[in-house]
Amino acid sequence: MTSERFFGLIPAAGAGERMGLDRPKQYLKLLGHPMLYHSVKALLAGGRIDTVFVVLAPGDGEFRQHAWGEFGERIAPLYCGGATRHDSVLNGLVAASSTAQPDDWMLVHDAARPCLGQRELQRMLDLLAEDDVGGILAVPVADTLKRADSAGRIQATEPREHLWQAQTPQMFRHGLLLQALSRTAKLTDEAGAVEALGLTPKLVLGSSTNLKVTYPEDLQLAETILASQGRQT
Ligand code: C5P
Repeated sequence: MTSERFFGLIPAAGAGERMGLDRPKQYLKLLGHPMLYHSVKALLAGGRIDTVFVVLAPGDGEFRQHAWGEFGERIAPLYCGGATRHDSVLNGLVAASSTAQPDDWMLVHDAARPCLGQRELQRMLDLLAEDDVGGILAVPVADTLKRADSAGRIQATEPREHLWQAQTPQMFRHGLLLQALSRTAKLTDEAGAVEALGLTPKLVLGSSTNLKVTYPEDLQLAETILASQGRQT
């Protein structure tokens, strides 16, 4: 079972409430472009991913206000976002079914990870293209982990051996992902749904620079990383 066709799918229908701003975070500007632009560009840059599907909220009025022309037909907005990330990804997979075959690879990537590096993306494509299950970018946990009690005091120090932090992209075949997400309760990532089928996705070494922009202070750091990657406006 092999396929050389790769597609991207970016859920971008969230409100970004933790940012505390009135505008969804995927449209916050980084180096003069919306965050979503950088996430799309990172997936398409290497030339190996055919098309990136972008899952937007049905009432999204902002996407079309930005310039996407440089991506031509390789960016496909789908106005089918749901109440949760899980719903948005699932709706997007269903909508993409008219283009993607069950064996085609889908790389699900957060709009909120604009700093995905080419080295990590290419490593993922190379390592997983022939894999039976698929996998995710992740980094080994570097910090010492503490379990808190309800009073905010340390209850235990957790061994960090074998612990990894999951990132995106998460890369699985379209058919498997559709099956996995249709069957499971709401999970925060695709790998969890695939694991629930009894499968073991592969961990592919990512980079801590592929940060998830969540809080306002992350914006400055993301801009610094993008600039260091040469992604000027
Ligand atoms: O809010 P959080 O950072 O966890 O969102 C991760 C990704 O999921 C973002 O790209 C966000 O736009 C997307 N999302 C979505 N639909 C939702 C909630 C989040 O597409 N209902």
